Amino acid sequence: MHVAAEVLGHKQKQAWLDKVLPPVEQVQPGLWSIPVEIPIKPLRYVLVYVLETPKGVAIIDAGWNDEKSYQTLSEGLATAGYAVSDIHDVLVTHVHPDHFGLAKRLREETGARIALHSAEAKTLMIEPHQEVQWQMESEVRAVQHGIPLEDQEQMKREVGEFRKFVDHSAPDVLLEDGDALALPDWDLKGIWTPGHTPGHMCFVEPERRIMFTGDHVLPRITPNISVHSNNPPDSLARYLDSLTKVGRVADTIEDCMGLPGHEYRYAGIRARADELIEHHEERLEELRAIVADQPGVTTWEISQRLSWSRDWSTFRFPERRSALGEAIAHAELLAQRGVLTPGSEPTAHWRLVER
Ligand SMILES: [Zn+2]
Ligand SMILES: [Zn+2]
Repeated sequence: MHVAAEVLGHKQKQAWLDKVLPPVEQVQPGLWSIPVEIPIKPLRYVLVYVLETPKGVAIIDAGWNDEKSYQTLSEGLATAGYAVSDIHDVLVTHVHPDHFGLAKRLREETGARIALHSAEAKTLMIEPHQEVQWQMESEVRAVQHGIPLEDQEQMKREVGEFRKFVDHSAPDVLLEDGDALALPDWDLKGIWTPGHTPGHMCFVEPERRIMFTGDHVLPRITPNISVHSNNPPDSLARYLDSLTKVGRVADTIEDCMGLPGHEYRYAGIRARADELIEHHEERLEELRAIVADQPGVTTWEISQRLSWSRDWSTFRFPERRSALGEAIAHAELLAQRGVLTPGSEPTAHWRLVER
């Protein structure tokens, strides 16, 4: 049996249960956590971490790109005794809008440097041709996975809605696995953890016995490992490897505290990483059984048959898209393992590989 992640952020956990925003908290001397609201469900808020330095502050992740989030961040900094103008570095775990969001605006206002893993920087939408390419790839994928036409239309509308919050620009510092971050008073090191996104990074500070785990390891939620044009088809295999990797690093640090991008602080990073690996192995088996039961099934159909916390038919479109992403990632991994084959038509019809 597993020892699940142990709650350390009790006020955060209570706030999560009460469906309210947790307080701004000092986690350790020189380290603060600021919850910044996300206007879309179900994550509610992203945790921005403030690291004090002799020059001002560095932040890990930046919150959603809207005025309300900016105000929340600004007020949170004031609670910690700082202002937005004190930010000199923005370290980004990954480019999802709840994490990268305000980075560009903060740089424009303060001259802060934005640091990001090099593989993540490649997924930023900066040039117009990247957007066109992204749309074309999405259409190919829709055919490949058998998404019905009306759902494709819905997906386009939803992506359009979402795009207005995304304001990307190139980072100032490109990070690689194991890089030490040049932050005075901090012995912070980046760990490349591809999977949730291609260039997701966790940051570890062994002296302080902490690891910022972004969306890679969350105490309760299973992060979505979807496959889309920005994430390669082997994203789930990479994710599982990255879980083993952070588990190993955490094991070298006694009582290492996990500081996640959502939910609450926790202990037991290794145990939680192992639990997530096991979750995905169970999911792989469930998917294999669906294909065995219904040979020729499309990925879209698989996404409807997988077990979810609620019935798939009640899902709104963003949830359907996540569900499909999860089905794709797991089917692709089973194909890599030689268990399933998609056949050769434009639309994948999954079957078991004859042995
Ligand atoms: Zn994310
Ligand atoms: Zn997130």
